Amino acid sequence: MDGLMMDFSLTLPALLRRAETFFGNAVIATRLPDKSFHHYTYADMTSRARQLAVALQRAGLERGDRVATLCWNHYQHLEAYLGIPSGGFVLHTLNLRLHPDDLAYIASHAGDRAVIVDRSLVPLLERFRERTPIENVFVVEDSYEELLAGADPAEWRDPELHENEAAAMCYTSGTTGRPKGVVYSHRSTWLHTLGVAAVGPLDFNISQRDVILPVVPMFHANAWGYPYIATMLGAKQVYPGPHLDPESLLDDFEQEGVTVTAGVPTIWMGILQLLDANPGRWDLSALRAMLVGGSAAPRAMIAGFKQRHGLHICHGWGMTESSPVASLSDLHPDLASGDIDIRFDFQAKQGIPLPLIEWRVRDDAGNEVPWDGVSMGELEMRGPWVAAGYYDTPEQADRWTPDGWFKTGDIVSMHPRGYMQIQDRSKDVIKSGGEWISSVALENQLMAHPAVAEAAVIAIPDDKWFERPLAAIVLKEGATATGEELREFLEPHFAKWWLPDRYEFVAEIPKTGVGKFRKTALREQFVQEQQPA
Ligand code: ADP
Repeated sequence: MDGLMMDFSLTLPALLRRAETFFGNAVIATRLPDKSFHHYTYADMTSRARQLAVALQRAGLERGDRVATLCWNHYQHLEAYLGIPSGGFVLHTLNLRLHPDDLAYIASHAGDRAVIVDRSLVPLLERFRERTPIENVFVVEDSYEELLAGADPAEWRDPELHENEAAAMCYTSGTTGRPKGVVYSHRSTWLHTLGVAAVGPLDFNISQRDVILPVVPMFHANAWGYPYIATMLGAKQVYPGPHLDPESLLDDFEQEGVTVTAGVPTIWMGILQLLDANPGRWDLSALRAMLVGGSAAPRAMIAGFKQRHGLHICHGWGMTESSPVASLSDLHPDLASGDIDIRFDFQAKQGIPLPLIEWRVRDDAGNEVPWDGVSMGELEMRGPWVAAGYYDTPEQADRWTPDGWFKTGDIVSMHPRGYMQIQDRSKDVIKSGGEWISSVALENQLMAHPAVAEAAVIAIPDDKWFERPLAAIVLKEGATATGEELREFLEPHFAKWWLPDRYEFVAEIPKTGVGKFRKTALREQFVQEQQPA
């Protein structure tokens, strides 16, 4: 017997309608390039999103055509997030931190026909545009405004999309191989939005009363869905523009009364250092939750924010392939109210899956490993907002198992209570004497040392053990420490053979375009240094 419910398509025009009908007065604030603030309302935003949809159609674009953005986080980018898919086109966010050669490949592979670009990024666009099929260029605060001016929002007609049509695309930055395109559907976008909003990070359910500032770039992995989540809820939104330094962000939090924010650990490490150096300088009493993901949030950072500044971190995990949020460290009630040290231990894990996301962990032989908190294996996942394939990249089909699970490439262990802990990415794993050493666990402990600002642990080839760990360390300003001291600091927490043999003090750890440690660059540097001259 079938259910007798409506077959209602989950498409983004429904989000647009909701936002304009119920939240017209809600505010969207943007820090402009000159550092002043721009404010307008949801009524303005939704009207301009409609204008954009109409204007793109007028410009000759057709249903399913890819429209790229090359932009920082700001209100025009939000208009694109809603207007492009609502017009039946596909939003393709380009990562402005990539090399022009990669951007040329990505924009061509995706078949982008138009691009909305920040004025400050036009020189970057010019370095690759000729190698792409892009015909139309709309410059924010310039020809983009002309484009909108010529379109009447009332002309917008719902294209009556099917929920499985593409809404957006994002390429993974692909530290190995060529970038791979993930294609989000309207349905997957809606379900991700609902799924992330449904899980409140430790008593902090997000609502209309919140003020949400996504630090995480809109040019990578949908800004973790926050532009859509905030719009669905009708929350005030704040966008930092190109100003991502800790001081500007703290000013934004204070001035706009931010309650919820989200970004990668590198950002929060910088913010924590600045707060430690200037206690009481910013009034952050409104700030309820900071979501951290993209790479592991060090336990010492989570504890530092809570104990020294009363600020709460919620740790999440995901990938471009999972829209991206797949888990949050929502603590079971007994853990949330229990011993603070145990609570920090659990917050430092990558959490339990969101509703409808499922996990399993398998070893090299394909056997599922026990959820005992120790055994390691590769995490596989499935769910309605997990990619089923990459766009036009058949050679990558083996990332999916024959029974339909996505192989994440993350090596994890599972706590018996379901909390996942990333030990490494498979390509970063250190295999010493046939056994895995978790670089992430070593890094977390090193970053708990009072003199250490950042630590990255990498594998260095070794004749006897195959690989051995090397720790690259950035010291805090004015602080000192020796390799010997750091080794002693690690000793109580790890088996002897896990301890790095070498400690290299560096000015900075190279980072990827989205702020993660670029371990390939470190490996090149230190492996080369090791070669006999
Ligand atoms: P890339 O890092 O290749 O640009 P993604 O942004 O999609 O691509 O990154 C996904 C990966 O980031 C995950 O597979 C995982 O290795 C890492 N990651 C994401 N969140 C976390 C986290 N909270 N802790 C540790 N690693 C994380």
